[in-house]
Amino acid sequence: MCRHLAYLGPPVPLRTVITDPPFGLARQAWAPRRQRHGSMNVDGFGVGWYAPGDQLPARYRRAGPIWADPDFADLGRVIRSAALLAAVRSATPGTSEGAAAAAPFVGGRWLFSHNGVLKGWPDTAGSLAATVPPADLLALESRCDSALAWALVLRRLRDGHTLPSALSATIASLREHGVTGRFNFLLTDGAEIAATACGDTLCYRLSEGGCVVASEPSDDEPGWTEVRDSSVLTATPDHVEVYPLSTSA
Ligand code: GLN
Repeated sequence: MCRHLAYLGPPVPLRTVITDPPFGLARQAWAPRRQRHGSMNVDGFGVGWYAPGDQLPARYRRAGPIWADPDFADLGRVIRSAALLAAVRSATPGTSEGAAAAAPFVGGRWLFSHNGVLKGWPDTAGSLAATVPPADLLALESRCDSALAWALVLRRLRDGHTLPSALSATIASLREHGVTGRFNFLLTDGAEIAATACGDTLCYRLSEGGCVVASEPSDDEPGWTEVRDSSVLTATPDHVEVYPLSTSA
């Protein structure tokens, strides 16, 4: 399934985090090393980042593989950011194609990505979708399980949940409605990252250069820590906490 990463730290050109590392997202798109499900991630990619003095992130998404986009190679060289979230996609059967289904999804100042699947989509998600306000359903960016998951998370953020609580409460709600699957979520507001390990791999690296939270290590340098399954992680540029995923909403 997909691979994603988020970064908080000193401002850097986007490509130094996303495509330059030897096993970064560009490489993970065709040869991921830790991915538990699926083999390639060529059904689109996306990058969201924050510019100084602007709370709202910008996004660049495309329907094809990240390595085949010369425009991103250029943009990634000259755009610098202290906070970003990026993903490469392997589309779940039955979901929409195209750039609109590629993470990150956005809502206000938040960026979100989902590595995983709502099993049996779309049939299994009916009772859950019925709990989502119609306006939120109409606002889905695509007919994709991850877009629905994002609507659930975003509703909770707007209701005042913290980032990790919005993720864990959404997973609890999915389970309450009998939705099984893999729910590795990644979320940022540009100041903090929250992520879940719930069915696929997750790791992080904290250094003087900032913090990277990623599906898998983007190089073989030391410092990567694997996050055990069924965990929630929160990160700032100089601090990471990991704790068990709560199963209650
Ligand atoms: N289900 C999501 C999609 O179709 C994420 C897929 C994945 O993790 N590969 O985009």
